[in-house]
Amino acid sequence: MKKVVKNFIIFFLVFLTLAAFLSLYNSPLDEPRKVGVGEFIDLVNREEISEIAIDGEKLEITLTSGELIESQKEPTESLSTLLNNYQVAPEKLEGVKTEVKETTSTMFWLGAILPFLLPFILIAGFIYFMMRQAQGTNNRAMMFGQSKAKEVTPQNQKNKVTFKDVAGAKEAKEELEEIVEFLRNPKKFTSLGAQIPKGVLLVGPPGTGKTLLARAVAGQANAPFFHISGSEFVEMFVGVGASRVRDLFKKAKKAAPCIVFIDEIDAVGRQRGAGLGGSHDEREQTLNQILVEMDGFDISTNVIVIAATNRPDVLDPALLRPGRFDRRVVLDLPSLNDREEILKVHAKGKPFDSSVKLRTLAERTPGFSGADLANLLNEAAILAARKNRKQIAVEDGLESIEKVMLGPERKSHVLNKREKEITAYHEAGHALVAHILPKSDPVRKVSIVARGQAGGYTLKYPLEDRFMHSKAEFIDDLAVLLAGHATEKEVFKDITTGANSDLKHATALARKLVTEYGMSETLGPQTFGKKEELVFLGREISEQRDYGEKVATMIDQEVSKFLKKAYVTAQEIIRKERLSLDKIAKTLIEKETLEQKEFEALLK
Ligand code: ADP
Ligand code: MG
Ligand code: ZN
Repeated sequence: MKKVVKNFIIFFLVFLTLAAFLSLYNSPLDEPRKVGVGEFIDLVNREEISEIAIDGEKLEITLTSGELIESQKEPTESLSTLLNNYQVAPEKLEGVKTEVKETTSTMFWLGAILPFLLPFILIAGFIYFMMRQAQGTNNRAMMFGQSKAKEVTPQNQKNKVTFKDVAGAKEAKEELEEIVEFLRNPKKFTSLGAQIPKGVLLVGPPGTGKTLLARAVAGQANAPFFHISGSEFVEMFVGVGASRVRDLFKKAKKAAPCIVFIDEIDAVGRQRGAGLGGSHDEREQTLNQILVEMDGFDISTNVIVIAATNRPDVLDPALLRPGRFDRRVVLDLPSLNDREEILKVHAKGKPFDSSVKLRTLAERTPGFSGADLANLLNEAAILAARKNRKQIAVEDGLESIEKVMLGPERKSHVLNKREKEITAYHEAGHALVAHILPKSDPVRKVSIVARGQAGGYTLKYPLEDRFMHSKAEFIDDLAVLLAGHATEKEVFKDITTGANSDLKHATALARKLVTEYGMSETLGPQTFGKKEELVFLGREISEQRDYGEKVATMIDQEVSKFLKKAYVTAQEIIRKERLSLDKIAKTLIEKETLEQKEFEALLK
């Protein structure tokens, strides 16, 4: 409604200016003097006229004095008849030039009709304008079904990503090399009748570079790239998603050979018929449409669909069958070497001082994804800038690792003397038990500076990446987790809330040992419970019990047995090594933070 009012005002203003302009045009400032027929005849008789121009009924008269005047005759009457009627002698006109203006009739008609026509034209224009407005909104409603895919053409060099920008992920790149080759030179394959892969599914934890790699394939192949996220298909209205899919593939086929990239495909590609949510019909239709489109490709359709997900387990099996997303490329969390490579990529354009070895940073970041590493270097640069340094130093890097892992340091979180003592003993307990137990990872740092949620922390991680864990390691880890609690009880005969998150972790770990890893002697090699994701809340996980009450009780007993045993282990170490414990705690109170070397020197 507002728009209509606005349009009306604009229209009105235009009209006003037009009117003003027209009136100005109609009344030139030096308008000739108008005289009656009588005076005109007089002038003729006195021979004061040098020139007469006849313009329809208008007579433009130039006097011998040079003055310009205007007079009028009847339209149907000629000048000579007029003069005759007034009995002017013909000789009087001998020296007068007469001229009949040609434009008369058209100008006359235009002049006659335009004043009537103009309002109609304006009104018609106005109506047309309004109609177009209304149609615009209509069109926008129709646009609903169009895909919002962003197209990146090879000419769009600015955001171009190639395999060079993706560090590590060697196998994944090798696998995708074939696709690049095909996009570059489809004829080479099709002339041999080779079936081209239609779909590639990139699978991996968040931040491992799935999106990046898909863009790199397009960049490497110099092919157009259509990027859409799974969630963009899902709208309020049923059928919109499907029509967006149709539109997307129509566009893609025109631009072939090209890549269609569907990011986060689990948003639409979830197992069909599994949901309770309202959007469930819509998703099913969208997914069906994707399948239909992919099946519709023939050998000559050079469109490759790349999809990414971090939840391959929830995908509909129909998506994964041959002829659809039959190729799977798995991206893992980067290994030590890959981490170093990724750091190298992101270190470009950041000045490091000579003390910084990216290898050291890579060693200290097991479990970091590519995105975490990129973030780490960015944090380091920010930190260096805040300290007004010209180059990024080692400390900035190390500090950032902890920031990315545990959250920012909370210097304002000031503990009183007793709290500080308790925290120091708590962390010393974790560190001591970790140091003594053979299967536990080496302690890298102990600190009682609050960070994120934690009041203090003990960092420990292995020198090499490990992909498997044994029962013995888990049992030692449980003891380390419970050591904080055990120390508080041993030293202060009381327990604080500080051990809360340790206990939660320990309990969850013990339950996993029993129900998922089959590491309990009594219950044996079996898994218990089926985890299922409720569709309508996305992340909500419900556990379905596939065992009876008796087994449930046994699981609880086993979990508690693991925890009790670990607790006893921790307690024994603390009692036996009480002197070392006191030494670590005292030093912590004094220095707040102990690095690996200082810590190990203390225990020698
Ligand atoms: P995903 O889609 O797997 O969640 P992205 O592809 O969006 O992850 O990666 C996020 C960011 O992490 C990238 O923009 C890039 O800066 C960085 N990154 C991840 N993996 C790598 C890698 N292998 N090499 C270089 N940078 C990477
Ligand atoms: Mg992504
Ligand atoms: Zn703790």
